[in-house]
Amino acid sequence: MKRAVYPGSFDPMTYGHLDIIRRASQIFDVLIVSVLNNKEKTPLFSVEERVKILKEATKDLPNVEVDSFSGLLINYAAERDLHIAVRGLRAITDFEYELQIAQTNRKLSDEKLDTMFLTTSLEYAYLSSSSVKEIASFGGDISQCVPDFVAEMMFKKYQKA
Ligand code: ADP
Repeated sequence: MKRAVYPGSFDPMTYGHLDIIRRASQIFDVLIVSVLNNKEKTPLFSVEERVKILKEATKDLPNVEVDSFSGLLINYAAERDLHIAVRGLRAITDFEYELQIAQTNRKLSDEKLDTMFLTTSLEYAYLSSSSVKEIASFGGDISQCVPDFVAEMMFKKYQKA
């Protein structure tokens, strides 16, 4: 069975992430989408909320599992016996950052964790969680960026803030 992990902050998950999830789920027998609990960032959504969003958005994909982790990806991958990480590439700016992480992970894991990249579908190339958050914080239209239930959750957060 070919299993892979798609790690990320997913704060929140966008249609760009969902596109990578759908495509990777067709390549691997099992895809584990795992939310990174990064204590250095102040996220809009808690890890539990991000996991809930991903579960709801992927409920029609039976071979996709949603999980979360803290600390180094290589340790999490070793614990769960995972050897392939999936990441998405939007532009050259992603490439430099992703290349460095992929090479570091390969080295630190004694070549046990490799990274596979899927390039973004063009219609989502402009999408990032941070730009969606900025638009939502000003009450802008994010209907083309995230599913409706996520947009509602975002607007609620910003109304409270
Ligand atoms: P990070 O893990 O760097 O905090 P994200 O959670 O936003 O960032 O993204 C997780 C992964 O999904 C990264 O590999 C990122 O490049 C990719 N990704 C984010 N948005 C898109 C998009 N619109 N199209 C394709 N890949 C994307």
